[in-house]
Amino acid sequence: MDVDDIDTIAVLGAGNMGHGIAEVAAIAGYDVHLRDIKEEFVQNGYDQIEWSLGKLAENDQLGEDEADAALDRVTTYVDFEEAVADVDFVVEAVPEKMEIKQDVYTELEEYAPEDAVFATNTSSLSITDLSEVTERPERFCGMHFFNPPVRMQLVEVISGEYTDDEVLDLTEALAEDFGKTPVRVRKDSPGFVVNRILVPLLNEAAWLVHDDEATIAEVDSTTKYDIGLPMGAFELADQVGIDVSHDVLDYMESVLGEAYEPCPLLVEKVEAEALGKKTGAGFYDYGEDGEGADVPTDQIREDVADRLTAVMANEVAKLVGGDVADPAEIDEAVMLGAGYPEGPAKMADSAGIAHLHETLTDAHEASSHPRYEPADTLAEMAEAGETFHGSGDEEEAGDGHDFDAVSVSVDGNVGHVELDRPHRMNTISGELLDDLSAAIDVLGDDEDVRAILLTGAGDQAFSAGADVTSMAGNADPIDAVELSRKGQQTFGKLEAADEPVLAAIDGYCLGGGMELATCADMRLATERSELGQPEHDLGLLPGWGGTQRLKHIVGEGRAKEIIFTADRFEPETMADYGFVNEVVENDEFEDRAWELARDLAAGPPIAMKYTKRAMLAGRDDTDAGLEVEAQSFGQLMNTQDLMEGVSAFSADRDPDFQGE
Ligand code: NAD
Repeated sequence: MDVDDIDTIAVLGAGNMGHGIAEVAAIAGYDVHLRDIKEEFVQNGYDQIEWSLGKLAENDQLGEDEADAALDRVTTYVDFEEAVADVDFVVEAVPEKMEIKQDVYTELEEYAPEDAVFATNTSSLSITDLSEVTERPERFCGMHFFNPPVRMQLVEVISGEYTDDEVLDLTEALAEDFGKTPVRVRKDSPGFVVNRILVPLLNEAAWLVHDDEATIAEVDSTTKYDIGLPMGAFELADQVGIDVSHDVLDYMESVLGEAYEPCPLLVEKVEAEALGKKTGAGFYDYGEDGEGADVPTDQIREDVADRLTAVMANEVAKLVGGDVADPAEIDEAVMLGAGYPEGPAKMADSAGIAHLHETLTDAHEASSHPRYEPADTLAEMAEAGETFHGSGDEEEAGDGHDFDAVSVSVDGNVGHVELDRPHRMNTISGELLDDLSAAIDVLGDDEDVRAILLTGAGDQAFSAGADVTSMAGNADPIDAVELSRKGQQTFGKLEAADEPVLAAIDGYCLGGGMELATCADMRLATERSELGQPEHDLGLLPGWGGTQRLKHIVGEGRAKEIIFTADRFEPETMADYGFVNEVVENDEFEDRAWELARDLAAGPPIAMKYTKRAMLAGRDDTDAGLEVEAQSFGQLMNTQDLMEGVSAFSADRDPDFQGE
């Protein structure tokens, strides 16, 4: 069966995940049969799809007609036989209970066509065990979406013991057709890839506190502001639900052994029903008087960072050694599924494999707990001086990532990143941020690359900013805070690149586009370019580093002028302000950009690297400022002023802000 042969998909269970998966399939053009056990449940799922499609249309992420057509493709069922009688592919998303799933598969086998593929969205149960309930274990696999499916890019496609390769290929092709990024998990191993990295990390965080080695504040400060994960470890545990992590660990322990013993601190919380956000308290207090997760920026401890990174590296090594996935796949999955700014294999390489191995060995000697036993693969790598990305998969690290929103190439010693959304004036989308982050990694890993040239495709813009109209509808302050952090971190990665970076600007360089250019080391602009930070016109603030980084280049006075006036500036003015290093005639743009990039690439790489590092290290406490920026960005997303700003922008009139 080829993906073109799939027309109709059944989604079993219309809950949290089921309705989202059904929506994604319907948007991609498939007829969807959505089934639940009661009319009200399935209707509720359908209503949620309708609401969500409405939101997508409102935010211009989908046309009204497309949204209506997608909804038309969803049919609801309570009758099992009718729901699955003529479908090509089944995604099961019923509750995470073995007995319920077993009953569902027994009945499904009875009614579904013989060649239909069965895919389970289970987070933690064994794919092999589930497949054995059916008479088609070779046409059975895991298809693990992340919550919410409409927004999360990753789908883990998991092989059971008997799954045919052809079925895995088909399921991956289907995930791609849904607009998602599949990552193959070659073995049915507990936690698959993302949870296998995340959950032991949370457990280790708990052990550190339980053993009085560190405080919650120190662990979270370190995870969030040193390792750079999107949330502190305890903050994340509260968000996910402490019971969820506990149950995954329990299962891991039963299959993989005592190394995964849930820390007593987690067990206590589960017994006390302090499960995190959903119960109002967990490691932090979310009640009326509680402050929620208030993670300090200044309690970072290097030994805590080492320990957590070492435990993560050990899990990566076990996955690689067990042939579950390779380092590039693990990195991609964890970046997309857990929002890490960099993959865990990459982080381990940067921290030093031998150092992490020693960290584990020391901890093992001190406590003799099996969780510190270094994996054979890690021990061998430490011994041989190898790294995850240096052990034969460098090519995959680059080639494995499909770049859509940017294009990446290397010419001589210059790595060229072109923002590649010319039809949308190279506006910055979530996908573009992901691609940019991967591009920086790819070029950073390429020894030939000694300078990076950043340009925008087409002849209108370097980048006209973020896709503000689509962002404005997402008035969830948490999401906006995350969005801000994600942009800050991705741009920060460019700023921290070892190689000199030249932003060559031709056309609009506005908002997020200007914040991106700010992270380059030098900027060249054509005479016709227009630069500026128009966020205040929209009732927003520059949320991708603009409140912090611009002042280092033009000084605080000019930075305030640029941000407060929200004006568009000519390149000559920006050259006077020190933002643009050189203004060039329009028709000399390309030649001069490449000439300058090659000049930079001819410089001494080590001196360049250390000069950049020293200058960056010498700045004030930018991290604290970035945090305030992200939180404020989240607050602003909820204001009437933003709505007014966006409407005024769309209608091309002056906004009338009320300060609400
Ligand atoms: P949920 O409780 O929100 O939804 C489950 C739905 O299945 C309910 O509407 C329930 O009425 C329905 N159901 C029960 N028995 C059924 C049957 N026999 N046939 C059809 N429907 C039936 O649960 P969820 O969060 O959507 O999780 C579903 C699956 O997805 C689980 O296996 C879970 O582990 C997995 N998962 C969940 C998440 C998450 O973050 N929630 C993420 C990834 C995977």
